[in-house]
Amino acid sequence: MAYREIYCVDCRRILGRYNIKYYPESKMGEIIKSCHDQHVREGHELVQRRSK
Ligand SMILES: [Zn+2]
Repeated sequence: MAYREIYCVDCRRILGRYNIKYYPESKMGEIIKSCHDQHVREGHELVQRRSK
């Protein structure tokens, strides 16, 4: 199963792992806003990457 990871460059950690099947690209903005907004507000750089 393939996963999409949200990684915070500034905290150097993975914030969340989401199954690609249930979380399409289009939903990621929403998830970042609702779950990881604190990082965004502090100016952290979040990247999305694929993993297996
Ligand atoms: Zn962060």
